[in-house]
Amino acid sequence: MTTAVDPHALPVSSDLAQRLRAHVQFLAGPDLHGRKPGTEGNRKAAAYLADSFREIGLEPVPSLGGYRQQLAGDLGDNLIGMRPASGRTGSAPWILLAAHFDHLGGNYLGADDNASAIGILLETARAMPALAHHHLLFIAFNAEEPPHIRTPLMGSQQFVDHLPPEIDLPSRFQAVIVMDLMGGVHWKPIQDTIFAGGAEQSPGLYRRLKEAAREASGVKREAKPLTPHASRLTVLPLGMHLIEELPLIGHVSFSDYDAFRNIGVPFLFLSAGRTPRYHQPSDLPDTLHYERMAATVGWMQRLLQILDEDTEPYRFERGRVELADDIATLRLLATQAAREDSEIPGTSFLSHSKMRADAQWLERLDPGRVMADDVTRLRRLSLRMQCLLVDFPVCFLL
Ligand SMILES: [Zn+2]
Repeated sequence: MTTAVDPHALPVSSDLAQRLRAHVQFLAGPDLHGRKPGTEGNRKAAAYLADSFREIGLEPVPSLGGYRQQLAGDLGDNLIGMRPASGRTGSAPWILLAAHFDHLGGNYLGADDNASAIGILLETARAMPALAHHHLLFIAFNAEEPPHIRTPLMGSQQFVDHLPPEIDLPSRFQAVIVMDLMGGVHWKPIQDTIFAGGAEQSPGLYRRLKEAAREASGVKREAKPLTPHASRLTVLPLGMHLIEELPLIGHVSFSDYDAFRNIGVPFLFLSAGRTPRYHQPSDLPDTLHYERMAATVGWMQRLLQILDEDTEPYRFERGRVELADDIATLRLLATQAAREDSEIPGTSFLSHSKMRADAQWLERLDPGRVMADDVTRLRRLSLRMQCLLVDFPVCFLL
């Protein structure tokens, strides 16, 4: 009956998973007090990141004179490192891999949010050779959490507002990949899954994402994983409108991709989604799925190599959706959530009956004939599942 994963029972056997855990244990350890911007703990985290960038062999962006971009508002720094294209052509386009490193502070230590993604960023940077055609940029953004999110002080917004002259123009970004909440695990059917949104607004990037996602799922196996790992990974596309367009509430953006989207940069947002430990003191290092994170590092290397094959800029079509894939993803989730032996932990009787009705409706929905009302219902279903996954008490109202 129970479909809750006990994270303590998950093995952490590979070297890579153990290195990921070491990053998280330091960043979300008690000494850093939750890495709140402007505090000593946040500065210690920044120093750890600068040391790691140096040890990994990332280069500073020359105009910054080091790995730090100082933020206004005494919030601390963004940490920025690069690996130039192997030909070192100055005019090569840029691919950015980014995650925020700050958290709420106090006894909120933020292991999943977002030490998990920082660990993946560091280990991808370590493993990743220079690309042939693109400069790789790695950024640990500061000041993503409230009260800075969706304000001009957000670290990613300050970066976009003060692009280093080496990058100069937003159009020089081929793609921006933002990761948030990459380590959490709660509901068994998605324990080896991460979700991918945003690429649907750039058809060229979307095609490449799906190619990489198919490889992750083992459909196409000729490419050997670059980093050996013990775990599987499923990458499911989930359009941003199913995450951000909230029935009754409206549009809400959730992470560092927003500043890039606003200036028309093709982006991909990756997340394993929220769990009941989201923004709670229980978001601790021993609750993460480190082998899935290790698999994600391997997959990320493959994705970056696939993206390197494209030198033509991707078109960006704001608000574009891929409804057939959205429906396929939601079907997969709703079918499991509607079954009594695999429902989301904590689902109430009322939520369960709504889930069953939605799963039956989804089975019948023709992806080629989706009406506006259907899109609203898809968004409501997505929101209800997200609500159940964080174990919020009044999900039955949705
Ligand atoms: Zn957060």
